[in-house]
Amino acid sequence: MTGRLATWLGLDRSHEPIGYAPDEQFGMIAANRVPDEWIKTTCGYCSVGCGMLVGVKDGRAVGVRGDPDHPVNEGRLCLKGLSEHLTLIAEGRLTSPMINGVPASWDRALDHVIDRFQELTNEHGPQAVAVLSTGQLVTEEFYALGKLVRLGFGFANYDGNTTLCMASAVSGYKMSFGSDGPPGAYSDFAEADVIMLIGANIADNHPLLTPRVLANRDATVIVVDPRVTKTAMVADIHLAIKPRTDIVLLNGIMKLLIDFDLIDHEYVAAHTDGWAALAEHLQTYTADYVTEICGIDEETLTNVALKIGHSPRALIAWTMGVNHSIQGAETVAVINTLCAITGNIGRVGAAPLSITGQCNAMGTRETGFTASMPGYRNYDDPKARAELAELWAIDPSRLPTARGLAYPDIIEGIIGGKIKALWVIGTNPVVSFPNRELLEHALNKLELLVVQDGFETPTTAKAHVTLPAAIWGEKEGTFTNSERRVSRVRKLVEPPGAALSDFDIFMDIADRLGVRDELFPGWKQPQDAFDEWTRISAGRLCDYSGVTYDRIAAAGGVQWPCTETTQELAGTERLYADGKFSTPNGRAKLHCVTNKPLYTGNRRNYPLILNTGRTVEHWHTRTKTGRVAILNHLAPTGWIEMNPADAASLNLRIGEDVRVTSERGHIDRIPLRVTATVRAGEVFIPFHFDEMCANRLTSSQFDPISREPNYKQCDVRVERVDNTI
Ligand code: SF4
Repeated sequence: MTGRLATWLGLDRSHEPIGYAPDEQFGMIAANRVPDEWIKTTCGYCSVGCGMLVGVKDGRAVGVRGDPDHPVNEGRLCLKGLSEHLTLIAEGRLTSPMINGVPASWDRALDHVIDRFQELTNEHGPQAVAVLSTGQLVTEEFYALGKLVRLGFGFANYDGNTTLCMASAVSGYKMSFGSDGPPGAYSDFAEADVIMLIGANIADNHPLLTPRVLANRDATVIVVDPRVTKTAMVADIHLAIKPRTDIVLLNGIMKLLIDFDLIDHEYVAAHTDGWAALAEHLQTYTADYVTEICGIDEETLTNVALKIGHSPRALIAWTMGVNHSIQGAETVAVINTLCAITGNIGRVGAAPLSITGQCNAMGTRETGFTASMPGYRNYDDPKARAELAELWAIDPSRLPTARGLAYPDIIEGIIGGKIKALWVIGTNPVVSFPNRELLEHALNKLELLVVQDGFETPTTAKAHVTLPAAIWGEKEGTFTNSERRVSRVRKLVEPPGAALSDFDIFMDIADRLGVRDELFPGWKQPQDAFDEWTRISAGRLCDYSGVTYDRIAAAGGVQWPCTETTQELAGTERLYADGKFSTPNGRAKLHCVTNKPLYTGNRRNYPLILNTGRTVEHWHTRTKTGRVAILNHLAPTGWIEMNPADAASLNLRIGEDVRVTSERGHIDRIPLRVTATVRAGEVFIPFHFDEMCANRLTSSQFDPISREPNYKQCDVRVERVDNTI
């Protein structure tokens, strides 16, 4: 492609030979894209987990295609996946360790980091150093990192950025079923009679799930979202509820199911606890009350309840609209409760299914040693601790009896002066953490900030030490997607400069600490970590004991649990088919939850409710997608969406730059989109953009159970920029 369009898209290849040539895999394709080989791997953006083929020629990735044999996407990719190989040649990579902005050798940088960690812990105790990880590493690296941090260094305060997206789902599953673990599978989208998506704009955020929903023409698709999202536009029923009224809606639906006698009493009696209390609790959720609070009409509410109640199979899936709330964990527990009382668990087309955020958030949930010990083992379970200690051949007293501080509490610990050093791995909190000013204040207080990442980011800019890491496509391992499917991630090209895989960095640190032989005996490559992890997971809900790299290659992806005796090559499609849960008595717990009112703060000065979210072109803080020309050209800046009625009353025009202010900060000169997709009184900003950072506005409110931030609602005012100068 040449010319202005090609230049604009960053695809000008006028210097390269033109023409077509035959490719073994895909027939006639551009001659300069005919690779030496096509390598099967898994997309490194979202948790849908699409399989792809990446063409590699002369050590460079030259093209990407959807893997037609992969069970998740059957050959399709979204625009991020289709351009993912371009991240491997993107500008802005970290190529050398740096100490205070000066290039250093790996020897010097790692010795410096370890020495400083030891000095600080000697002086202030082990709580003085904290670690923040990510959902972007491969599972093998998460497993190694957990052992290194908790047993090698002995640091308690270790968490991941997954607390910013999935912690509420984890906590909600534990509350209901006794363990984390999404019960459903993507194939349920094809089999369900009702598909209810709550706070899940999959068309933007999990694009390749959308064709699955659209393909089920017999299902009634219900979307619950305050905005008319792209997903809401294809729904049969859109419940545009008021912000944070989802608990009231779900309770109202359950009340109607009782009124219409559409409860699965047999399932409730056989497999759940708490029915009598729930039935009592729901009595106050009359249709009048629910419709008033939620801002919907009674006919639609009744219709939705009847659809769910009369359908043999209902799938309820959710993402951040549920999780990003001060009641995220409880909302998940209510979704689970609704599924349980209608018997919609463990059957084809019937499940409560959390759609995870990052490509391998599941991997860190299973192996990570953060919210729980590896294999979903609870810290306070003596049996689980004894079992793990025996498997690792260590004294049980070396295993912690409680989790360390969660992400927001680590930030608070820095501000309070207890935490002096922070090691950040593969995440960019300056843009992604709520209440940016407070976060930057915390990072500025640190005596040592170490950031290990593939690219320069606003967070690496603040680091005392940066460690250059390999990114997706430059290392080996596995990812686990939202339906528990483990897929292979392959090394396609060499990392640039002195960058190393996170696995190699962790092993080098373990060597220097003198713990490598004990914690990682004989480990030379990620597969050694995987092999140990499969043994550690045996007998647990997330049982990988029958999963091997060869089995993954043969099946195209394997869903856990999968033991050596699991008949299906691709593992187990769904959990809890036998109605036995991971609670002490094997029964699911039904939850009575009352919604807390929306925080309204100073509504006089800040009369609009800000909702934040994502757009399909970008991934999180744009560390990668902001460097891919075609994606960046499609969505180069942030924007704010406002209802026409509000724009008219504020005398604001489409396209003009406005200032948005909350009690915590402001964004200047953000373009205004006037659209009825947002309700009057509410506005929306995508959170990806550092330059127009939505987290300058968001508040430090967190779910007390999951510690997940309440990103979705904060009070703001919007003004013409000229008026504010
Ligand atoms: Fe990658 Fe998600 Fe797009 Fe699939 S839907 S190609 S996993 S970003």
